[in-house]
Amino acid sequence: MTCKFFVPGPTWVRPEILSEMTGPMIGHRSAEFRELFTGITTDLKSLFGTAQDTFVATCSGTGMLEAALINSATRRVLVTVCGAFSERWFRIAQSLGLEADKIEVPWGEAVSPDALANHLMSRRAHYDAVCVTHNETSTGVTNDVAALARVVRDESPDTLVLVDAVSALGGIEVRFDEWGLDVCLASVQKGLALPPGITVLAVSAQALARAKKVPYRGFYFDFLSFKKNAGEGSVPATPSIPHFYALARQLGDILRKETLEARYRRHRAMRDVTIERTSSFARLRTDRDHASNTVSALEPLHKTPEEFRSEMKKRGFTIGGGYGDWKESTFRIGHMGDITLADLSAMLDVLEEVGR
Ligand code: PLP
Repeated sequence: MTCKFFVPGPTWVRPEILSEMTGPMIGHRSAEFRELFTGITTDLKSLFGTAQDTFVATCSGTGMLEAALINSATRRVLVTVCGAFSERWFRIAQSLGLEADKIEVPWGEAVSPDALANHLMSRRAHYDAVCVTHNETSTGVTNDVAALARVVRDESPDTLVLVDAVSALGGIEVRFDEWGLDVCLASVQKGLALPPGITVLAVSAQALARAKKVPYRGFYFDFLSFKKNAGEGSVPATPSIPHFYALARQLGDILRKETLEARYRRHRAMRDVTIERTSSFARLRTDRDHASNTVSALEPLHKTPEEFRSEMKKRGFTIGGGYGDWKESTFRIGHMGDITLADLSAMLDVLEEVGR
């Protein structure tokens, strides 16, 4: 089955994954569900690189961005901003009535660990949490989460590190424990190549301890309720069970068929071939050293992004449009999830033809 769908989420879903979703309904307090859920949370630990807690929530990634902030912060947070999705952290923080500061870099650049260190050292304010976006989908920039988290750990050890890995997880390596992260989350319609509808997350012991001190954590997204229910092999409220079937199958395929190492290698190769084969007719808008393995934002040289998209559409291929500030000037190619190098190359053959 070939893929002709190259938007940076939702991504193409393999037919065998879709058919997993037609499994029989089971109760979410049943022994069958307990087995399904326990298998998933165990596999998620391997994916996140953690021995701490992993959970699944029935909502898209934005719900869990909000939940991460609600469970972690009561007063003040710092948001690192490098595009539209990292800006979303800031807007959510403001919507919750938190005092939110930001450090911001121009679109196309990655957040500098030095700038973060300077900010934390020079500011007298104490932050409950620092918010980071692993892979900025609007620009195709990957931030050095390991370095950013190290800065926070060194400068302000009790500040939690909250990471949006929505367009990273499953395509770009995450090492939750080694990097010292506190909450890391991803909706599943990107690097995990499932239909949208659920979000996976890892939560540190330090983050759970913080949640205990937050008096009003809400009800649906209470991390302590996630933890209590997970102890019984379940979730607080009725989950999207079809997604859980698909996730279990996909995690098994990723970890035991393809393997994480091969998956990350494939994603790096997809980035490289995309950049190389578009260079004669489009400019990569992103700092090459931080160019994402999962999405490329490209500014065409001779045609408008819209012309590219509609000409590709006529030839049966869907590519992504620009986003936010770069909406008019770029198109984006999503090269993540279960897309093969062969499928990507076939699309790039046609894109080259259009670009000529
Ligand atoms: N964060 C990033 C980096 C994203 O790319 C997206 C969606 O594209 C989101 C957050 C929002 O996720 P969702 O649409 O699953 O709520």
